[in-house]
Amino acid sequence: MSIPADILQRQAFPVLDDEQIDALRAFSTEKVTQPGDVLFEVGDSFYPLVVVLEGRTRILERSESADRVIKESGRGEFHGELGMLTGQRAFAACVAATPGRVLLAQAAAVQEAIRTVPEVSDLLVTAFAARRQILMQSASASLTIIGVEETASVRALQEFLDRNRIPHRFIARVDPAVTVVLAPFGYPPPAQTLVVVRGTRLLADPTPIELARALGLDLVVDQEGPADLLVVGTGPAGLAAAVYGASEGLSTVAIDNLAIGGQAGTSSRIENYLGFPSGISGGELAFRGEVQAIKFGARVTVPRRATRLEERDGCFIVGMDDGGELLGRSVVIATGARYRRLGLPNQEQFEGAGIYYAATDLEARFCGGNEVVVVGGGNSAGQASMFLSRHARRVHHVYRGSGLQASMSDYLIARLQRVPNIKLWFGTNVTELFGDEALKAVTLRGPQGNKVRVQISAVFAMIGADPCTDWLPGSLERDAKGFVRTGQEVGGSSSYETSIPGIFAVGDVRATSVKRVASAVGEGSVVVQAVHRYLQETSPTVAPEPISASA
Ligand SMILES: Cc1cc2nc3c(=O)[nH]c(=O)nc-3n(C[C@H](O)[C@H](O)[C@H](O)COP(=O)(O)OP(=O)(O)OC[C@H]3O[C@@H](n4cnc5c(N)ncnc54)[C@H](O)[C@@H]3O)c2cc1C
Repeated sequence: MSIPADILQRQAFPVLDDEQIDALRAFSTEKVTQPGDVLFEVGDSFYPLVVVLEGRTRILERSESADRVIKESGRGEFHGELGMLTGQRAFAACVAATPGRVLLAQAAAVQEAIRTVPEVSDLLVTAFAARRQILMQSASASLTIIGVEETASVRALQEFLDRNRIPHRFIARVDPAVTVVLAPFGYPPPAQTLVVVRGTRLLADPTPIELARALGLDLVVDQEGPADLLVVGTGPAGLAAAVYGASEGLSTVAIDNLAIGGQAGTSSRIENYLGFPSGISGGELAFRGEVQAIKFGARVTVPRRATRLEERDGCFIVGMDDGGELLGRSVVIATGARYRRLGLPNQEQFEGAGIYYAATDLEARFCGGNEVVVVGGGNSAGQASMFLSRHARRVHHVYRGSGLQASMSDYLIARLQRVPNIKLWFGTNVTELFGDEALKAVTLRGPQGNKVRVQISAVFAMIGADPCTDWLPGSLERDAKGFVRTGQEVGGSSSYETSIPGIFAVGDVRATSVKRVASAVGEGSVVVQAVHRYLQETSPTVAPEPISASA
């Protein structure tokens, strides 16, 4: 449900009235400005909210050649963005254009204002969210990926950026524009994929984490003591735990390996989530959840992968892939599940270059009016086929079972049967993949062993998922498939407590959970009550040393 551009503009750039300015004054300091005074600079983290009282201020995009004015503001207008609350570094600079006066509110004070003054909270949070959306919609030249479309490295970067709603553009290696973009850097390094950040920095074959660092997405969680609640995984379950935890007064830190939203974030349309009768894209739902979590003061950071969980001196330590550690008095495991691979010998060659595990706008770009295959019998497979039928010439929906009734919702089956360019194949498997740099064809093997080769440009594997539990200690009880066991049968004092008191599990990662967005959100919300109870029952402990947490 996208907001019309004029309404989005009004939401993004409101003018504060005197009463609202006075409300913010309590959280700010006043500064007299002269033309050229820098109020925050590109790269600053926890930069202040700037409210103009008198005179004019400008937001500038810095570049090698000249600064570009993105926005000029006068009395009652303010400069700030969602990232200022999360510790993200400033993408642009803010300078005074004329003599004047401004209010400066540091990030922590803005968070406090949002928490305690409802009129200010609504206005700021709505404006910040709208600004981020406008930024996403405008093709930004501040981040450019140069490479070969559909290669795994380009796709990994695009997935990270898209899923985190970070504006960027892609230029094919063969495009003449590449010469202009790379001109400031002299002879380009011999890399397959190059990324130009703000026209000033060139990265050769960066990983998503390296790109996040270059973008200033690194958050520094200054832990003076353990967080009340550490949430690992920010799919619907983890995000709900972060929102409810933070809103109910727990100091809450959440991390995710890739992006906020989890599997749901890859869904093009979730139609069965309460309150969205015409459906909502997973990306949009995740964004709303992220804004809500940040609004309540949860510290959410990506991309950070949890690599271990251990108990030390009565607290829990989550080790991360960057070597940092987070410390918590309780932990909610919400790491969900990972897509199952097709199990074909050369599948890795085509991952990101013809084999996909999600069907969003990003993957739809690669259909290009060709034929595609969707494999699977669940709702996610059905939704993928419906969605892709609008982008592909034909969708071959392949399922190894004899019918969909046992695994897919009736409404989806009825829809699939009605779409003319969807062909249903039952008792069928994909047995071979063909192509060179990209996938070109597959062999489908039918119920009688009959084989047919189909020219396609993509296979969407929607065949289930395995739990993301490889980072957990062996002592934490799991079922035969690796899902985390919780509740009375493992000695848990609530339905979501694991075999280790103080560690809880919610959502798809939990054994016997219903694998749905609503149930993941429900479990993430409800678990906070059990966390509260656990924290009350265990006396606060002395924090162990050291806490090196760069998250
Ligand atoms: C394409 C698709 C469409 C779907 N459509 C629907 C639908 O319409 N309706 C519906 O109800 N359900 C739908 N589902 C199912 C639904 O999305 C899931 O049930 C739900 O997302 C589970 O939420 P979760 O938070 O438990 O886990 P996940 O969504 O799996 O989130 C887990 C998160 O943990 C992170 N993570 C994993 N390991 C680590 C680690 N070691 N360190 C840090 N982070 C980690 C992952 O990056 C991920 O973001 C769909 C699923 C898919 C894939």
